[in-house]
Amino acid sequence: MVQTDMKQIVLKNALSAKPKASDFTPIQSQKPQCPKSGVVIRVIYISVDPYVGSRIRGKHMGEIPPVPMEGKIPGAAVGQVIETNNREFHIGDYVYSMEAGWREFAGLKEGTFHKVDPEAAPLSSYVGALGMPGLTAWAGVTQLTQIRKGDVFLVDAAAGPVAGTAGQIARAKGASKVIGVAGGEEKCQMVVDTYGFDACLNYKQDGWQEELKEHAPDGISVYFENVGADMLAFAVQNMQLYGRAILCGLAAHYHGGPPATTLIGPIIGKRATFHGLVVYDFYDQWQNFLNEMAPLVKSGQINICEDRVDGLEQAPVLLEKLMAGANVGKCVVVVAPETV
Ligand code: NAP
Repeated sequence: MVQTDMKQIVLKNALSAKPKASDFTPIQSQKPQCPKSGVVIRVIYISVDPYVGSRIRGKHMGEIPPVPMEGKIPGAAVGQVIETNNREFHIGDYVYSMEAGWREFAGLKEGTFHKVDPEAAPLSSYVGALGMPGLTAWAGVTQLTQIRKGDVFLVDAAAGPVAGTAGQIARAKGASKVIGVAGGEEKCQMVVDTYGFDACLNYKQDGWQEELKEHAPDGISVYFENVGADMLAFAVQNMQLYGRAILCGLAAHYHGGPPATTLIGPIIGKRATFHGLVVYDFYDQWQNFLNEMAPLVKSGQINICEDRVDGLEQAPVLLEKLMAGANVGKCVVVVAPETV
């Protein structure tokens, strides 16, 4: 019998605070129709990212939040084509889309998905190091700050997919030192052991700021910001003259508290250059990025770490963990097997 309905996860009510797992519920809904020139995929891996927490509260970049009990929760995914109205995509092809959402099947409009090659890299890496977080890292390191041989690179939220990928790209491009900052021993151990950073400073431990001097006695030349004002102030203080910084994220400020502010004086004093980064600006370079990065992921020059849950119903639990900053690595929901 042909399946006509599917499971999806929706919000119970409109949100005004940081999302918790209990804010969501599974419902049965109609399986999507195949759009003109589009495809229907069975969803395999869903990416859970920090922007989801802001977007479902209408606090992201102007997008309208999902309607409770029916609207799609935003989520990038890798899936397999099961219906197609597009001559370039065949049943069985694997694709990536930022428009999939928290559901078992997704109808994707033309232009919102691209093919991914499961032979070129592990399939789940296409939601992490080879997905939007990886593109963000690549854009910041190679396009905006244009990392150079000998750079001393510092990045916070170091255990996450953006920072982990950014640090490894910086290393591959010739950085002489790659240093992370992360919250906790487990995270820092993973950053050194798996991502191969030279060091990772655990900011939850006293004295962590002084440790930077041991690893970068002449200061850092490039800083990749994912967290917020306090970390930025620390990084600028420890920057070489003419240092460069990428302002990518504000994880410590997304759900309340004082707004992120920074002192202009220390930036002037360091003659520093700041680049604001919005990954949307680099979507047209996705194929160049994949061509360069997939071989590095396949060969193990760029390593990945995943924080996985099994089953679509577990997506809200993983989001709550990410919102608490308790994730170690890329948050991935395993919805279905890679092959059926
Ligand atoms: P992630 O690092 O896996 O998760 C966010 C991390 O932020 C947490 O694990 C936590 O790590 C840290 N954090 C610090 N203070 C926090 C707080 N108050 N609440 C929650 N987390 C806190 O995330 P990611 O996917 O790699 O993304 C990293 C950053 O890049 C995020 O800020 C994200 O919004 C941003 N981003 C920006 C763009 C763009 O276009 N600009 C695109 C993608 C992602 P520690 O425990 O180590 O502090």
